[in-house]
Amino acid sequence: MRFETLAVHAGHHVDPATGAVTPPIHLSTTFEREPDGSFAHGHIYGRDSNPNRQQLEQCLTVLEGGAACASFASGSAATAAVFQSLRPGDHVVAGEDAYYGTIRLLREVFGPWGLQHTLVDPADLDAVAAALQRPTALIWLETPSNPLLRITDIAAVVELARHAGARVAVDNTWCTPLLQRPLELGAHVSVHSTTKYLSGHSDLVGGAVVVHRHDEFFDRILLQQKQGGAIPSPFDCWLLMRGIRTLPYRMRAHCEHAALIAEFLAAHRAVAKVHYPGLPSHAGHRIAQRQMTMAGGMLSFQVQGGRTEALRLTGLLQLFTRATSLGGPESLIEHRASVEGPHTRAPENLLRVSVGLEHPDDLIADLGQALEQL
Ligand code: PLP
Repeated sequence: MRFETLAVHAGHHVDPATGAVTPPIHLSTTFEREPDGSFAHGHIYGRDSNPNRQQLEQCLTVLEGGAACASFASGSAATAAVFQSLRPGDHVVAGEDAYYGTIRLLREVFGPWGLQHTLVDPADLDAVAAALQRPTALIWLETPSNPLLRITDIAAVVELARHAGARVAVDNTWCTPLLQRPLELGAHVSVHSTTKYLSGHSDLVGGAVVVHRHDEFFDRILLQQKQGGAIPSPFDCWLLMRGIRTLPYRMRAHCEHAALIAEFLAAHRAVAKVHYPGLPSHAGHRIAQRQMTMAGGMLSFQVQGGRTEALRLTGLLQLFTRATSLGGPESLIEHRASVEGPHTRAPENLLRVSVGLEHPDDLIADLGQALEQL
C-alpha cells in the first residue's frame, strides 16, 4: 500500500465496542484482570501501555517500515531513551550540527553519566571513519541538519558503521518517513520529535523511537519507556494519530512552498546565502535527491549584514511568527543563534524558517516587503 493509504489506515480500526469510526480516547489508567489472572486486552496499567499509544506505535512502525516503536512524552525523551540504552563508558559519534538539545543531552546529561562522545561533520566520511577508530556503540545522525541543512549520506555512514560494529540512529524529525526512510537505508533506529510535522498543528509535544528489529537493544528502550515513564498521554496519542492522517498532503505543500521561497531568497540582493537542499547549488543536493523524496519544509538563510539586520528582518515580517519549533500550519522564523546560546554553530546573520501552509505567494510577498526595508 502507498504512504497516503497507510497514513489514513495504519493503527486505525472501527471501535469494536461502539462502532465508532474515529477512535475513542482511553483515559483509564488501569485495566481489569480476568479471574485467571490474565488481561483480556493486553493492557495492565497506563504507564506500561494504553490503547491509544498502541495504535500510535503500530502506525509509526508501519510508516517507517520498522519492526517496533516506543513513543515518548517528547522528542528529547525519545533521544534520551536511546542514549540511556547504551552503557556508561560507551562512545557515541554524533553530527556536530544536530539539534542543539541533542548535543546538550550528550554533553551535559550523558557526559556525567559516563557516555563519551565525539562530534564530527557527518558529511565528511573521512572524519566519520577517523572518529570510528575508537570503539563506538552508536552513530547519531540528523539530516538535513539543524540549522545549516547539511546533508549526510545515510547509506554511506551505515556502511562505515557496519565495519566498525556500531549502530546508526537517525533523527528523522524534519523529514518524516514520507521524505526519508532511514531504516530502509540500513539505519537501526529512527527517532522523531512528533511535536513537529507528524502532529502538524503545533499543539502537542511528543517523541518516538522506531527500530528495524525488536532485539535486546529495543528491550532496553522499552524499559526506559515503561520504567522511566516519560510516556505520551492518551490524548496526545490521539491528536497525533489525527495529524498523521493528513501528513502526506501537508508535507507536500510545506515542501512546495519551501522550494519557491528558497528560489526567491536565493535571487534577492539582501540575502547572502540560502541553505536548502532542494537548490542545485546546495552541497548536498545530489545526495538529498537520492535519499529524500522531497527537499523538506525547512530552510535557513543569511541576510546581508549581521545579527542586527537579521533581527530587524524578523520584526518587519507580518505573516511569519517569531517563534521556535517547526512543522505546523503557520510559518515560523527564528534567529537561531539567540536560541542556542554560546555553543551555537548558527551564524549571527542566519534565520531559520519553518515554511507553513499559507499561500506561497503571500509568504514571498511578505518576505519581499521586509527585505526591501532592510
Ligand atoms: N530533534 C529535532 C530535529 C528537533 O528539532 C527537536 C526540537 O526542536 C527535537 C529533536 C526535540 O524534540 P522535543 O522538543 O519534542 O523534545
